[in-house]
Amino acid sequence: MTAYEITEHDYDVVVVGAGGAGLRATLGMAEQGLKTACVTKVFPTRSHTVAAQGGVAASLGNIMKDTWQWHMYDTVKGSDWLGDNDTIEYVAREAPRAVYELEHYGVPFSRIEDGRIYQRPFGGHTTEYGEGVAVPRACAAADRTGHAMLHTLYGQSLKHNAEFYIEYFALDLIMSDDGQCTGLIAWKLDDGTMHRFNAKLVVLATGGAGRAYFSCTSAHTCTGDGAGLASRAGLPIQDMEFVQFHPTGIYGVGPLITEGVRGEGGYLTNSEGERFMERYAPTFKDLASRDVVSRCMTIEIREGRGVGPLKDHINLNLMHLPAEVIHERLPGITESARIFAGVDTTKEPIPVLPTAHYNMGGIPTNHWGEVLRPTKDNPDAVVPGLMAAGECASASVHGANRLGCNSLLDIVVLGRATSIRAAEVVDKKAAVPHSGAAKADAIMARFDAIRNADGAHPTAEVRLKMQKAMQKDAAVFRTAESLADGVKAIDEIWSTDMADLKVTDRSLVWNSDLMETLELYNLMANSSAIINGAEARTESRGAHAREDYPDRDDKDWRIHSLAWVGADGKTSLTYRPVHDKPLTSLADGGVDMKKFKPKKRVY
Ligand SMILES: Cc1cc2nc3c(=O)[nH]c(=O)nc-3n(C[C@H](O)[C@H](O)[C@H](O)COP(=O)(O)OP(=O)(O)OC[C@H]3O[C@@H](n4cnc5c(N)ncnc54)[C@H](O)[C@@H]3O)c2cc1C
Repeated sequence: MTAYEITEHDYDVVVVGAGGAGLRATLGMAEQGLKTACVTKVFPTRSHTVAAQGGVAASLGNIMKDTWQWHMYDTVKGSDWLGDNDTIEYVAREAPRAVYELEHYGVPFSRIEDGRIYQRPFGGHTTEYGEGVAVPRACAAADRTGHAMLHTLYGQSLKHNAEFYIEYFALDLIMSDDGQCTGLIAWKLDDGTMHRFNAKLVVLATGGAGRAYFSCTSAHTCTGDGAGLASRAGLPIQDMEFVQFHPTGIYGVGPLITEGVRGEGGYLTNSEGERFMERYAPTFKDLASRDVVSRCMTIEIREGRGVGPLKDHINLNLMHLPAEVIHERLPGITESARIFAGVDTTKEPIPVLPTAHYNMGGIPTNHWGEVLRPTKDNPDAVVPGLMAAGECASASVHGANRLGCNSLLDIVVLGRATSIRAAEVVDKKAAVPHSGAAKADAIMARFDAIRNADGAHPTAEVRLKMQKAMQKDAAVFRTAESLADGVKAIDEIWSTDMADLKVTDRSLVWNSDLMETLELYNLMANSSAIINGAEARTESRGAHAREDYPDRDDKDWRIHSLAWVGADGKTSLTYRPVHDKPLTSLADGGVDMKKFKPKKRVY
C-alpha cells in the first residue's frame, strides 16, 4: 500500500506530450468525440517543436513541378532503405493535405508573389526519383516554422473539449496482467500531488532524447521519457543506434542554424576557403543529406582543414546572400549567430560543427501509431491500449536517416493518424479499464526510492558522465573499439553511479532535482539502446557510420533492431523485418516499386 494519496481520473484517451505530435493527436481525438486528456511536463507552447526553424516538407509544387511519389522516393533513399515503405508512402501522400490543413488552421506560412505558400530546397529533396534537380519542397514560416505550427495547433486544441494537465510529469505506464496499457501515473510538479489516469488508450508523444549527448540542438526537456516509459513497461525500442547529427550546430554551444540557410544559397568552407562539399557530392553539394554532410565535415577537420585556432570546426557562409533574403527568410538565425557566436552574418561566416539533433529510432509503431511488441510468430503484433507518435516513435518514416523537414511533417500526419485509428478501436460506451492497486503501488515504490536516494553521486554529475561517454563513443564515426568503450562506460554508470545516486531535495513541490533524476533514468535507457544497437550493427547505414564496416550490408542488416532495456540497464537485442511493401501499387495509381529497389546512396 503506497503512502502517496492518488487522485483518479478516467478518460477514453490520454495523450502524453503537447508538442506538435501530442497536440495534433489531442485535437483529432477530441474532434472524434473521445473524452481526451493531454498530460505535459512543460507548457504546450514550450515543447521542443517550437524551436523548429526550416520548414515542413510537402510536394505542393508551388515553385516547380513536384509529386508525392518523388517525395516518397527521396525519403526511402534518405532512410538508406531502412524505413517502412507503407508508412513512408502514407506520410508523403498525406503531406500536401496536412500542410493545407495547417494553413487553414492559421499557420502564417511565408508566401510567393501570387499568394501561394513559399517553398525552399532542403537536403535530399529532389525530382525524378533522385535523377533530377533539387526541388523546393520545404514550406516555411520564415525560419520560425515550428513556433508558428505549435502556437496554431495549441489554439486549435483549445477550441475542442480536450482537457490539459500542464506541468504533470508522467512517471510510468500502467500495464494490465494481459499486456494491455490501461493508463499511467503522473506527478503534478507545482503542488506535489499524484494522479492516476485510467484510459482505454494512451498515446505517447514525448519527443526526442537529444540530451543523451553532450552537444545537442534539443531543449533540456528532450530526455527520451517515452522510451524510458516503454522500456519499464517491458516493451522494446527500435533502431536507436541511428542518431542524426545536424551539420550546423553553432560551434561550442550547440544551437541550430537551419539547413534552410544552405537551401537559400549558403555554403560550407574549410580552412583553405574551399567549398569542399563539391568534392564529395558533386550533384547536390551542400544540399546532400545530413548524414553525408556531417561526415564530410568531420573528415575535413580530421585531415587538418578545420577552421579556427584549433582547426576544429567549419565555416558556414551567407555573407553573399542579399540582405532581403536574410531579413525575410532567415531573421531568427541572424539573431542566434549574433547571440551565440558573436557573429554578424552579413560580414563573417558562422562557426559550425555537427551536433546531435534527432532520434530516428523510438517506440516501434505501425503507420496508425499503434505500438508494436513483436512476437516470434508476428513481428507486427500490436500492444492493446498504447500508441506513440512524433520523435519518440519509430513508425518508421526516417529509417536510418531523416531528411530535413520530414519531422514537422511526420508529427502532424502521424499525430492525426492516431486519432483516425482511435475512432475505430476505442469503444466510447465501454467502461474505462482499472488495473488493480498493486500496479500503482509498484510505480510509487520506485518513485519513492528515487526520491529518497542518498548515495554518493549527484544527478548532474552522472548525467554529464553519460553525455560525455555518448559524445565520445557514439558520435558521427564509430568503430568496434569506440563502441565497446561506450558499452562499458554506460554499463558502469548503471552499476556504480545509478545504483548509488544522490537526490538532495526530498520535497514534492517544484523539485527539479528529483525530476531531473527521473529524466536521467529515461536518458540512460535511451543511451543503453543506442550504444548496444550500434555495437551490434556491423555495417554503415544512414547516420550509423562504422569505420570498420564502411559498407551497407543489405543481406544481413536491412532489418530493424529492437532493444529491450531492463530496469538495471541490461539490454538485449532482437530484430524485425523492414516493411518493403507500400500501401498501393502502380495499378491503382500509386507506387511503382521497381523505382524503389535498394541501391547505392549517392548525392
Ligand atoms: C532546434 C531544432 C530545429 C528543428 N527544425 C526542424 C525543421 O525545421 N523541420 C523539421 O521537420 N524538423 C525539425 N526539427 C525536428 C522536430 O522539430 C522535432 O522532431 C519535432 O518537433 C518533435 O515533436 P514532438 O511532438 O514529437 O515532440 P516535442 O515537441 O519535443 O514535445 C514533447 C512533449 O512531450 C512532453 N513530455 C515529455 N516527457 C514527458 C513526461 N515524462 N511527462 C509529461 N510530458 C512529457 C513535453 O512536455 C512536450 O510537450 C528540429 C528540431 C530541433 C531540436
